[in-house]
Amino acid sequence: MSENANPGRVYLVGAGPGDPELLTLRAARLLMAARIVVHDGLVDPSILAMAHRDARLISVAKRRAYHSVPQDEICALLVREALAGRDVVRLKGGDPFVFGRGGEEAEACHAAGVPVEIVPGISAANAAGAAAAIPLTHRDHASIVSFVAGQCKGLSEQDWTGLAGVGRTLVIYMGVKTAPQIAEKLMADGLSPEMPVAVIENAARADMRVLRGSLAGLPGMVEDEKVRSPALIVIGEVTRDHADVPLVAMATGMA
Ligand code: SAH
Repeated sequence: MSENANPGRVYLVGAGPGDPELLTLRAARLLMAARIVVHDGLVDPSILAMAHRDARLISVAKRRAYHSVPQDEICALLVREALAGRDVVRLKGGDPFVFGRGGEEAEACHAAGVPVEIVPGISAANAAGAAAAIPLTHRDHASIVSFVAGQCKGLSEQDWTGLAGVGRTLVIYMGVKTAPQIAEKLMADGLSPEMPVAVIENAARADMRVLRGSLAGLPGMVEDEKVRSPALIVIGEVTRDHADVPLVAMATGMA
């Protein structure tokens, strides 16, 4: 590899939930200037359309069942391009440091002496809360909020005790496929089967769906409504439709 004395910079950029209006100004500016954009499958085409017309767009899309590009190859790609002297925008859905494997990519760059800048994005939990008018915290209903991955190594061994319950909000990423195990796990921990839950599919996108029910009914709701990824499961009192909370959900205005 011909290494350049002045390596390019890798920008790990959060693309938010899909609506280009929810990009940060810095993300938009970097995207419009970059000549190399490495993106994953969650990044909406309307955001990719903002890239410079001479930009090389490299997809490293992943699906749950298979990994089209292994993580170490993604890291190697970023490092290779930067060492060749090119700046790279690595565009990720939501926030790069929330279940985005941005940590691994930053470590790989540091190890290779490549400078990295992290540009935060609006994570799915924040986007879903705003779009579905579900406040993640609320003075009367929740003063603790936790984010967990519903599909991860050793789900059944993970200790979720106390993460959900009265006064708390639990946000589960990647939990569609494991909804039955999640509901069972939480009820085994003593959570009421009546605890309200919401499922937000395609949060902040034009085709968003918000489903509400109870913890015991969660697996049936996910199956009957054919919920598809990307979707979040939110568990807690805040998901109850509080008619007294004067919130208007934001417009999902993708033109
Ligand atoms: N870094 C991303 C999360 C990547 S993990 C972020 O900060 O949002 C992928 C999971 O994120 C999906 O399985 C889903 O649970 C959630 N997700 C991402 N985008 C979403 C969206 N628009 N609506 C609902 N959930 C979403």
